[in-house]
Amino acid sequence: MKIAVLPGDGIGPEIVAEALKVLQFLAREGLSLEFETGLIGGAGYDSAGDPLPEATLALARAADAVLLGAVGGPRYDTLARPLRPEQGLLRIRKELGLFANLRPAVVYPELAAASTLRPEVVAGLDLMILRELTGDIYFGQPRGRRTTAAGEREGFDSMHYSESEIRRIARVGFELARGRSRRLTSVDKANVLDTSILWREVVIEVGGEYPDVELSHMYVDNAAMQLVRAPRQFDVMLTGNLFGDILSDEASMLTGSIGLLPSASLDSRNKGLYEPIHGSAPDIAGRGVANPLATILSVAMLLRHSGGQVQAAGRVEAAVRSVLRDGLRTADLCAAGQTPVGTQQMGDAVVAALARQ
Ligand code: NAD
Repeated sequence: MKIAVLPGDGIGPEIVAEALKVLQFLAREGLSLEFETGLIGGAGYDSAGDPLPEATLALARAADAVLLGAVGGPRYDTLARPLRPEQGLLRIRKELGLFANLRPAVVYPELAAASTLRPEVVAGLDLMILRELTGDIYFGQPRGRRTTAAGEREGFDSMHYSESEIRRIARVGFELARGRSRRLTSVDKANVLDTSILWREVVIEVGGEYPDVELSHMYVDNAAMQLVRAPRQFDVMLTGNLFGDILSDEASMLTGSIGLLPSASLDSRNKGLYEPIHGSAPDIAGRGVANPLATILSVAMLLRHSGGQVQAAGRVEAAVRSVLRDGLRTADLCAAGQTPVGTQQMGDAVVAALARQ
């Protein structure tokens, strides 16, 4: 398996180095893995004047999977929009056709107290949000600004989904549910929006191919409320781009720690880009205190979804749970009175735990 490694900016290189330790350990055990590193984001701009240099895109295209750290930083905030680090990320997702964004939100028992919700509401949560990533109101035409005849400024965007776009993301959702608790909740606003009426129709049609999966539908406003009221009722939530953008951030807060949440963005052949959901954390970059676990858990997703290495993925996740059970905490997870471990120490502990799995 060829993996393109794109550390990016800020804490990106520090956390990716720890994730690579995990992959290199598995390679020493016999997994066939090849790595090649490229520049993206501010690092791409600094070296090639482009947040997604041609060489990086070529590397990503040739790879089976991409492991990414994070991009961005205050140094780049004044650049023209096409040159900003975040554009590199948006472009690579688009160029690779990564339409399916998987964001698991898991609450480990040891960390239930870190959530802003009561532990009894979130303990044991294991939720997967599947967000469509390349359609919807973010890409629909027409869009723009204009001035009306009366001289008033107007802004407008178009919500848009085609049947084939809905069908392919729905299939990913049903397949995911099959590998979990066989429950899929499709989120829409079919009481108001035509796009959502079609969404619901097509999801029901695809559901006919998956009689073993229990399909339900929920309006997005209710879903937002249910996520904080009783989040454990959900297994896989299937959403369009806009609703998923909002709900996945809400779900990430249920877990209490941004430093723990991985993500995957997949194409139709399970090639994927794997990255932590957090950013480049410029406020702590270079200090060796960042939490590498979200990136290490992204490696587990990489092994499972692009590598078909379900057992190795499970071992990595078990190793992470084991270090948390042992009480190891980076600064972002520490409660009062606890002594934090650094980024490298956490990475080393996961590798040691992996060797015991
Ligand atoms: P952020 O996620 O980088 O940081 C938010 C807060 O969480 C900070 O206090 C940070 O120190 C902390 N944090 C984040 N990751 C952590 C980790 N692994 N361990 C410990 N603490 C962690 O979000 P931000 O501050 O809004 O953005 C910083 C930069 O990152 C910006 O340039 C932004 O555009 C970029 N960004 C990139 C991505 C991405 O690469 N996918 C995502 C979000 C933001």
